[in-house]
Amino acid sequence: MPIKRKGPRIAVVGAGIAGLSCATVLRRSGFEVNVFDKSRGPAGRMSTRRQGDWQCDHGAQYFTARDPLFQAEVARWQNAGVAAIWPARIAVLDGSAQTAWASEQDRFVGTPSMNSPAKFLADAQSVTLGCTVTALHQDGRQWRLASAEQDMLVDRFDVVVLAMPAPQAADLLREVATGLAALARETEMRPCWALMVRLPARVPVPFDAAFINQGPLRWIARDSSKPGRNGPEIWLLHANADWSELYIDASAERVADCLLEAFALHGGQKSTEWTAHRWRFADTEPSEEPAPGYIWDEASGLAVCGDWLNGGRVEGAWQSGRMLGERIATC
Ligand SMILES: Cc1cc2nc3c(=O)[nH]c(=O)nc-3n(C[C@H](O)[C@H](O)[C@H](O)COP(=O)(O)OP(=O)(O)OC[C@H]3O[C@@H](n4cnc5c(N)ncnc54)[C@H](O)[C@@H]3O)c2cc1C
Repeated sequence: MPIKRKGPRIAVVGAGIAGLSCATVLRRSGFEVNVFDKSRGPAGRMSTRRQGDWQCDHGAQYFTARDPLFQAEVARWQNAGVAAIWPARIAVLDGSAQTAWASEQDRFVGTPSMNSPAKFLADAQSVTLGCTVTALHQDGRQWRLASAEQDMLVDRFDVVVLAMPAPQAADLLREVATGLAALARETEMRPCWALMVRLPARVPVPFDAAFINQGPLRWIARDSSKPGRNGPEIWLLHANADWSELYIDASAERVADCLLEAFALHGGQKSTEWTAHRWRFADTEPSEEPAPGYIWDEASGLAVCGDWLNGGRVEGAWQSGRMLGERIATC
């Protein structure tokens, strides 16, 4: 049980891996923390779609762990049964007759689905789901949150942490912290169309997943080859960022036609059982600039964390939340 300490009451907006990692550190340090998310479940871009008798990870596909602290956290998740190594054979396809193979390394996935680590972290938190924060209001030295579903929330917070993609953070900061909003607006995030496909039989290809360097696709994966998935043959197709940008307003049917056609060139089959998802803010372009890790404005009590502040990816997001939580805890 965390020690209740008299100190700042903190709102974390965003129950992706960054927000949950920040909330975990803060709660362990004894702070009262409330997490809010607009979605029906936690995990953000580590989400899993359920459709009838099948499921598919449609955002992050796997994660690596290089930082010893993140390695320790992933070991904790493995012990809890919410993550495991995915021993995938991963091809690199560029149109040549020869198949190249991606390097072998430990690639982890959530089990039984990619959102499991986030659910595990969220279980130890006070999380309000289905709460879209639309504005931050300063009330003396404290903050109140307005939400699309409940208007103004009654609670007052000393610190507000925004743990979400840069453009969404910029929208919330615009009225209350123009400097921070400008910083967030500098980061461009690119879209990604995801197509989840259920197939009647095993696709006869010699790989579990492939990076694709031609056509509209950038990645395909046999989702059902991940540990803990016992259902039918499921494939996930991700379009590349240029193509996704071009087709951002296309219908899901048009996107499915194009991506299934491209999938067929790599051994895939057509299917009428699919569902699509458009990620508007999937990831950032790699930058030469050193990553700030997080933003903390002690004077106003506003803070920002997320993958875009720490090199992208699941590991970067988790580290960003952890570093911010530790920084706030030392104030
Ligand atoms: C298609 C795709 C493929 C990827 N592949 C990989 C991969 O293979 N490996 C890897 O390591 N990483 C991958 N990533 C990146 C990885 O998913 C992210 O880096 C990481 O999950 C980001 O976590 P986060 O907490 O910073 O943000 P998010 O996961 O985006 O969490 C932000 C949360 O904030 C909530 N939110 C936003 N605005 C509001 C609001 N106004 N009010 C309330 N809640 C709000 C959202 O609902 C969301 O839950 C991929 C991402 C995508 C989209």
